[in-house]
Amino acid sequence: MHPCAFYSRQLSPAERNYDVGNRELLAVVLALTEWRHWLEGASQPFLVWTDHKNLSYLRSARRLNPRQARWSLFPGRFNFTLTYRPGSRNAKPDALSRQFDNPASDPTSQDTILPHSCVIGAAVWEVEHAVQRAQVNCPSPPECPPGLLFVPPSTRSSVLQWGHCSKVACHPGIHRTLTLLRQRFWWPSMASDTREFVQACTICARGKASHRAPAGLLRPLPVPHRPWSHISLDFVTGLPPSEGNTTILTIADRFSKSVHFVPLSKLPSALETAHLLVQHVFRLHGLPQDIVSDRGPQFTSRVWNAFCRAIGATASLSSGYHPQTNGQTERANQDLEAVLRCVTASHPASWSTFLPWVEYSHNTLVSSATGVSPFMASAGYQPPLFPSQEGAVAVPSVQDHLRRARRVWREVRAALSRTASRNRALADRHRVPAPDYVRGQKVWLSTRDIPLQCESRKLSLRFIGPFVIDRVINPSVVRLKLPPSLNVHPSFHVSLLKPVSSSSLSPPTEPPPPARVVDGGPAFAVRRLLGVRRRGRGLQFLVDWVGYGPEERSWVPRSFILDPALISDFYASRSAGSGCPPGGVP
Ligand SMILES: [Zn+2]
Repeated sequence: MHPCAFYSRQLSPAERNYDVGNRELLAVVLALTEWRHWLEGASQPFLVWTDHKNLSYLRSARRLNPRQARWSLFPGRFNFTLTYRPGSRNAKPDALSRQFDNPASDPTSQDTILPHSCVIGAAVWEVEHAVQRAQVNCPSPPECPPGLLFVPPSTRSSVLQWGHCSKVACHPGIHRTLTLLRQRFWWPSMASDTREFVQACTICARGKASHRAPAGLLRPLPVPHRPWSHISLDFVTGLPPSEGNTTILTIADRFSKSVHFVPLSKLPSALETAHLLVQHVFRLHGLPQDIVSDRGPQFTSRVWNAFCRAIGATASLSSGYHPQTNGQTERANQDLEAVLRCVTASHPASWSTFLPWVEYSHNTLVSSATGVSPFMASAGYQPPLFPSQEGAVAVPSVQDHLRRARRVWREVRAALSRTASRNRALADRHRVPAPDYVRGQKVWLSTRDIPLQCESRKLSLRFIGPFVIDRVINPSVVRLKLPPSLNVHPSFHVSLLKPVSSSSLSPPTEPPPPARVVDGGPAFAVRRLLGVRRRGRGLQFLVDWVGYGPEERSWVPRSFILDPALISDFYASRSAGSGCPPGGVP
């Protein structure tokens, strides 16, 4: 059999409004019109093959709409049989006929003339029936508004489930859940019950980002008591090469706000940083008590150990790493970086020769945090720029100098405390106090900083858990009991947590399914495979387990997977183009 003619035409805007059955019928009418000269009055009967079941219905339908009735007269001039051919065996014509369909729509949903989305009446009826049955034992009180159905206590849980979790609701927020329920139902504690139910919904807790202000108030670093006891390190990188240098190490004293700038050819290692500290801090200012760096606690502690080794001391002083760095220090570093970028931009080839001038100007100009210049705060006097100032700076004796220096330090410390509390108040305006967490409490953990094995970062869960609090380290940091497969440090700032609420109205959360015993060993059910990687001689698959969250996904060797259909399904979905990249991590 050979094809001898093709016919195709775009649907007009009005025709696009036809439902599927009418479109198919239109196609038949158009084809008969087009090939009328061959088909009309043919001696042999001919067959019309189509891919839609509804046509069989249309052929035998008793009641036709006016247009169908008009069309039904036209085919009467032809001698043909309309027959149905299943879509799956009709591969090529199907590819053509489907392209006008909305690609997002599920092709299987066209099996019936009535779309699935229309079948919601039964669900409403069921919950209404349950309420009406319960009213037999608990009649409606007089205060129930007319037209609404009073919900007795025994059915409130199922009404709430219908109004929040069913297909017609799809987990709206508290207000919208309440609006939906108020269309039909009423009971006295409706508003508070809905709030409690929605807050306890585990699906909402996992999936929705929190719109509350971040929890946990700012805990500023303690104000130091002397210059150069508490220093912070920072790196400005990616600068244009100037005499071979592309990086600046900034060493800042958190007391006086003095800085030193060290031009470097590249980002130094921890050991190199320690040697730089000996050269630029220890030599001039003595031993610091505390080093803060934005490159993480591991880096700071390695620098600190190497630094102590370099000066021949044992590292018994702890490097007090503060995860919640003082906003004030951070801010000062940002300002410095801005100044350095301005200078390097205006002198791209010679910025490293300008660094001493930048350092001098920073250290002699007044700092907003202390009210005096960094030089004044650390040395107790301001270096004079003009000969006329010499008299004001000079002191009659060393004792006078010491007295003056002590007074300056006292004033600086008071100013720093004032600035710290002001910064704290500013930062806390956009934060709320964290709930008082206790040991053993269950919390949700934000997935913001956690490398989950998931296909789409955008659609992945916002929270995982619940997890149990192992220890409250301080009001801002708690340690959680985490599954080992998660492979992250278990201490978290409270802004990444939210408490798990429960409600007597919501159904109990199901515990994860226990292992089944297969061939004498434990076996867990697999939802699907997400990725494949090569390890040694064999392959490993990334497994999404039934009843467990994305945090429990794990790589298992191929030999552990008992059902070979899982693997063939995985490869089939990947070759279809819907697979994720190996590893599945975005
Ligand atoms: Zn929900």
